[in-house]
Amino acid sequence: MRLFVASRNAGKIAEMQRILAAHLPGVEVAGLDDVAPYDEPVEDQPTFEGNALLKARAGVAATGLPSIADDSGLCVDALNGMPGVLSARWSGLPKSDERNNRLLLDQLADVPDGARGAHFTCVIALAHPDGRELVVEGRMDGTVIREVRGSGGFGYDVLFVADDHPGVTTAELSREDKDAISHRGKALREIAPLAADLLR
Ligand code: IMP
Repeated sequence: MRLFVASRNAGKIAEMQRILAAHLPGVEVAGLDDVAPYDEPVEDQPTFEGNALLKARAGVAATGLPSIADDSGLCVDALNGMPGVLSARWSGLPKSDERNNRLLLDQLADVPDGARGAHFTCVIALAHPDGRELVVEGRMDGTVIREVRGSGGFGYDVLFVADDHPGVTTAELSREDKDAISHRGKALREIAPLAADLLR
């Protein structure tokens, strides 16, 4: 059985493969680099769910395979939930994590310590060629600190301290420790058994 992951991110594909393998032995996970090139949709939806479904449906249309896609971002309380779906390109194009982090720090400069709450969200959508669809959401709550710290992870990890791991940023956690509490890890662990039922 083949499952298409609409992503070029080798880390994400491997993570998906690892977690799904436990529930779906023998499932072969293919990424964007393993299928014929196609026009990927512009992620123009106002919600994570909208963008994840858009990418999963485009995967089905292009490959004919059951397709999975995710969309994620950081939602900051003091910014009314932004950057949200705009997280990757918060400071404009071309995408730059470093520039995004600097902009976020500037925007929160006057926000007091007690009001710097934020959460990461990850929505994963699975679309089957027969029209059935699954959508799950994972969330990690925490705080945006005042300076970058750590060298692991990616994106806003250097600024984010999770409630489940106080005292260190998610960029200072091991991969396993971050997976255990992260929005993406939670969503993947939730969708794996559901995907197994749907694909059986
Ligand atoms: P995407 O879902 O991989 O496109 O990620 C969207 C953007 O949200 C990323 O470019 C990051 O800026 C941010 N983001 C999503 N998940 C994480 C995370 O686990 N750590 C840090 N930043 C993240």
